[in-house]
Amino acid sequence: MANQTPLILAGRSEHRERHLEVPDRSGAGPPTEVALAGPQDVEGALAASAAARGECAALARHARERALRQTAEALEARAEEFCELIVSEVGKPRRDARGEVSRAVSTFRLSAAECSRAGGESMELDHLPATEGYSALTRRVPIGVCSLITPFNFPLNLVAHKVAPAIAAGCPFVLKPSDKAPRSALALGELLLETDLPRGAINVLPLEVEHAGPLIDDERVAFLSFTGSDRVGWELARRAAPRRVALELGGNAACIVDEGSDLEDAVSRLIVGTFGQSGQSCISVQRIVGHHSLFAELRERLIDATSKLVVGDPRSDATVVGPLIDEDAARRLEGWIADAARGGARTLIGGERQGAVLQPTLLENVPHDSPLWCAEAFGPVAVLEPFDDFDEALNCAGEGPFGLQAGLFTGNLDRALRAFEQLEVGALVVGDVPTFRSDAMPYGGVKRSGMGREGPRYAIEEMTELRTLILHRR
Ligand code: NAD
Repeated sequence: MANQTPLILAGRSEHRERHLEVPDRSGAGPPTEVALAGPQDVEGALAASAAARGECAALARHARERALRQTAEALEARAEEFCELIVSEVGKPRRDARGEVSRAVSTFRLSAAECSRAGGESMELDHLPATEGYSALTRRVPIGVCSLITPFNFPLNLVAHKVAPAIAAGCPFVLKPSDKAPRSALALGELLLETDLPRGAINVLPLEVEHAGPLIDDERVAFLSFTGSDRVGWELARRAAPRRVALELGGNAACIVDEGSDLEDAVSRLIVGTFGQSGQSCISVQRIVGHHSLFAELRERLIDATSKLVVGDPRSDATVVGPLIDEDAARRLEGWIADAARGGARTLIGGERQGAVLQPTLLENVPHDSPLWCAEAFGPVAVLEPFDDFDEALNCAGEGPFGLQAGLFTGNLDRALRAFEQLEVGALVVGDVPTFRSDAMPYGGVKRSGMGREGPRYAIEEMTELRTLILHRR
């Protein structure tokens, strides 16, 4: 057990007999043993967090802010260590891992800043004769114990997006990180243990999903915040009823390249949006919809830029596309590419697989009922589709069950506004790819892509209840 990474229960690091084996996906070293929580740990964490509820709610905002700033500074000071951790446990290319750490630092700072902005409203209620003499004060109160469940693909920053707002809101939490990549979350939890936060409020439990049930439906849980696949997310939301739920789920983002676009600029952004993070981002570009007047040139430029990408070793600073999370994920995509080819699709570049590494791949003429068009690829693959008029482009981009973000390159303000009004998405990005995300903005989807919003300010709203004090003056 000497080399085992401990779990965190009620603010204490503890080893366990059972462990998860987390491979080194960068191929550099042996697997790491991570303590595996059992049903009694889930019970212990829920009991401790429920007991810490009052203490967390009573914690002054300056104390919450101090803990968040202290964690941001500790994370920044150990940025290289966290970067190596992400490269190892996810096989994420180092340049993306470095970006993820600096974003996590900023997520903590943004959450800290929210602590000093927590104000309510005061209103007079004399709009009718019958309510004259009444006024109201509102205040946001912490919702209580938060169950936080996170995916593998951003094992640090998506944890930060749940944990930091929970602290700012005054809520204790039980976090279940991805069983594929729990080490960054545990290392972040260790930084939180260096703060003065109530011990019972901090619980990080690597856990088999069959033991996660109480995190979804135990009566002590007030809020479930889930980021992951749409299949799991909606099922958990059903089981969690009637408690509040936020779901940050998948997508198959489209990006429209309208006539007259600057192709040099658009292609350089599309390449990052499609192949950055090895395509394992919920807002990766999956469908590129280009105006017929520039489609041939767009295709050639995309093929050319794709052919120059460095693929393979995530430890190299030059690598853009590394391995997928496991070989199964790469095999699944290989199958989807073959399926599209049977339906008449043409592979323009890529398509080959070595182990968990799939070469960056572009296809055209992909049938709209094939998974590569209508399901979430979650890998370094995009499909190209031409359009004649803008309404057709909007229909094309809006097809399918998801609605997370969409991108649009256009110089036409009227079309930008039409797209904003018509596309059912959480956000439309004009002038860049749908993969753009600032950690400060409201982030989340509609349709099967989820409900609720993240970004510290918005997550804090989800993690608090509005309480109103009504005053009657005689
Ligand atoms: P996943 O749904 O397989 O797992 C997500 C988390 O849920 C993991 O911690 C997993 O262990 C847990 N889980 C799975 N079944 C569970 C159950 N029955 N009970 C309790 N917990 C359970 O997703 P993944 O493969 O880790 O991540 C990839 C998915 O996440 C993609 O669909 C991607 O689009 C999505 N994602 C969405 C966002 C967003 O903000 N919208 C961000 C990143 C990833």
